[in-house]
Amino acid sequence: MDSRFVMPGDEVAVEEEYAAGEGTFADNGTVYASQVGTLVLDDDECTASVVCPNPPNILKKGDVVYAVVADIRSTMATADVVAKEGTSKNVGGETYATLHVSKISPKYTDDVSKELRKGDYIRAVVTETKPSLQLATKDKHLGCIRALCSKCKTEMVRDKKGEGLYCPECRYAIPRKLADDYGDVVLR
Ligand SMILES: [Zn+2]
Repeated sequence: MDSRFVMPGDEVAVEEEYAAGEGTFADNGTVYASQVGTLVLDDDECTASVVCPNPPNILKKGDVVYAVVADIRSTMATADVVAKEGTSKNVGGETYATLHVSKISPKYTDDVSKELRKGDYIRAVVTETKPSLQLATKDKHLGCIRALCSKCKTEMVRDKKGEGLYCPECRYAIPRKLADDYGDVVLR
């Protein structure tokens, strides 16, 4: 077994001796690295592979993430995932996500704008990653965790019933799908 650090495009083996394994590709008889990592030449299997010591933080189903609502459309919201709960590593891969109107609140709703607004910070769970990243906020610990008043940009506070938000500055009130710890979020 041989191991050395390689970069994408580095020649790592010849196909006569080693077949292209994970993290490599073959072209015209030569095997090249397709990712950064450690080259592993396996003499038993006769494969050359490149193993990434620190794989990018790709999201998977069930991950809890933090995202910023980018846009509100009639049947869905779009959001940019900015972090994954439990890690400070950057999120790799796809971060553009959608939330369908039926996945936002446990109550029936047909109006996304009554649940979330552009610019809201939300905590959500990943429900699908293929063909696109999809999130849901139905659980009580999921939903909006921080929102600014759309009129005066003051940070909004939870109303007395806990079902919506109001602005302590201009008294603007608006419903929201709130996480149970809105206003008291400890990032982990
Ligand atoms: Zn306001």
